[in-house]
Amino acid sequence: MKVLVPVKRVLDFNVKVRVKSDQSGVDLANVKMSMNPFDEISVEEAVRMQEAGTATETIAVSIGPEKCAETIRTSLAMGIDRGIHVKTDAEVEPLAVAKILKAIVEEEKPELVLLGKQAIDDDSNQTGQMLAALLGWPQATFANSITKDGDSLTVGREVDGGIQTIKVSLPAVVTVDLRLNEPRYASLPNIMKAKRKPIDAKTPDDYGVDISPRLTTLKVAEPAGRTAGVKVADAAELVSKLKEEGVI
Ligand code: AMP
Repeated sequence: MKVLVPVKRVLDFNVKVRVKSDQSGVDLANVKMSMNPFDEISVEEAVRMQEAGTATETIAVSIGPEKCAETIRTSLAMGIDRGIHVKTDAEVEPLAVAKILKAIVEEEKPELVLLGKQAIDDDSNQTGQMLAALLGWPQATFANSITKDGDSLTVGREVDGGIQTIKVSLPAVVTVDLRLNEPRYASLPNIMKAKRKPIDAKTPDDYGVDISPRLTTLKVAEPAGRTAGVKVADAAELVSKLKEEGVI
């Protein structure tokens, strides 16, 4: 089974996000960028599939500026075989990403596309679902476990209050959730080896996809600040304060 793994370069999850003063977006100048954490999980899963002999070839794809090649390189150091970098400096919305991925699927013919459940920068949670619809493939979202049996996958899905287990026939689109696995750190020899793995450079035009935006961000605002708490001496004072505030 050939596996395609889309990886997005996003603001590192440890970075404290600053909203621009004109509220047009978040400030990305000089901040650390990394692979979307859910994509690290899908890369890990694809590599484990390859180690288990379930995946025959693994390919990482990233759509975005020059530096996305570094994100692809990270996935190659974790064990992915090769990369495709679709270069553009424009902001690419989930629908356009899904259209580019569809064109790559038609060219590469993978049996499985393994995406993150969402990108932590825009929290869209749309790309996998749109890709499945464009391809007419079954999808399993929020995967917490994935097992291949014959021509299908059994996927445990994280749902409110438990796990739903479903079977999807291949080819399929799967989006991964946090508890699927714990991604590995790339070893130094593997980082060196990754430098020799190929990355194809492409553009959205190569796939005939119009990436012009369909959405306009009207405003991005910081969450409201929290007011300071009050210390109480004992439970009795707590109860009377809660009554005063009308909480109980
Ligand atoms: P989203 O729908 O934006 O929340 O993203 C969900 C998933 O789609 C991500 O975890 C990635 O696997 C994939 N994805 C989104 N945007 C890109 C991109 N520019 N390049 C590669 N993969 C992407």
